[in-house]
Amino acid sequence: MVENLKPGIIAIDGPVAVGKSSVGSMLARRLGYVFFDTGMIYRAFTWKVIESGIPPTDEEEICRLVDATRFEFVAVQGWRLSPIIDGEDVSSGLLCPRVEELVPVTSKIAGVRRALVSQQRRFAGRGKVVMAGRDIGTVVLPRAELKIFLAASTEERTKRRHSELVERGENTDLETVMTELKKRDEMDMNRTISPLKPADDAVIVNTEGLSLEQVVDKIFALAADR
Ligand code: C5P
Repeated sequence: MVENLKPGIIAIDGPVAVGKSSVGSMLARRLGYVFFDTGMIYRAFTWKVIESGIPPTDEEEICRLVDATRFEFVAVQGWRLSPIIDGEDVSSGLLCPRVEELVPVTSKIAGVRRALVSQQRRFAGRGKVVMAGRDIGTVVLPRAELKIFLAASTEERTKRRHSELVERGENTDLETVMTELKKRDEMDMNRTISPLKPADDAVIVNTEGLSLEQVVDKIFALAADR
C-alpha cells in the first residue's frame, strides 16, 4: 500500500493480449487499489446476448437487453473485480471462443457502450482504481491522472496469448491465435465509437522483452511521480 499516492485513477489501455489484465492486477495489488478489467463486462454482456438467443445483428433488441440487465461487481481475492450479471457469476465462461468472437460485435453498438461506460464511471467514482480496457483514457475516464497505453508487437502478443491458451488446456496453434488476435484488434481500432487508440496524454509503455514485474515497476514509478 502506498500512502499519499496522487493518481486516484490509473487508466490502462491497449490491444489484445498486451498484458493489461496481468499488469493492472499486479499494479492494483501493489498500490492497495482495486482492479477493474472492463473487457470482462463486455464479455459478460456478450455471454448474456448468446444466452438470450438474440441474433448478434439485432442491435435494437441487444440495446433493450443491456438496459434491462443488472450489473454488479464483486471483489475476488480482495482487489480484482468480477462482474455479476442479473445475480449470476458468469466469469468461468468469459474466455470461451464464442464470446471472444462476438464481443467486438456487441461492443461496437452505441447503446451497449453507453450503458457499460456508465457502469464503469459509476464504479471509478470511488477512486483508488486501476481500470483497463480500450477507451478508458480517451472516453471513459478522460480525467484519469495517469494514463498508460501498453504496446507490444503482434508476434509477441500472439506468443503470450498462445501460451495462456495452452496453459488452459486448449488445443490451438500460433497461426490461428494470430489470425484471431489481428481480427479483433482490427475491429476494435476501426469502429466508429470509442476506437482503440492512445489518449493524447497517455504514456506509451512498450512491454516487448520486459517481464511483468518490469512493466509494473515502470508504471509504479510513473504513479509515484505524479
Ligand atoms: O480486454 P479483453 O480482450 O477482455 O476485451 C474483450 C473485448 O471487449 C475487446 O476486444 C473489445 O471489443 C471490448 N472492449 C471494449 N472496450 C473496453 C474493453 C473491452 O470495447 N473498454
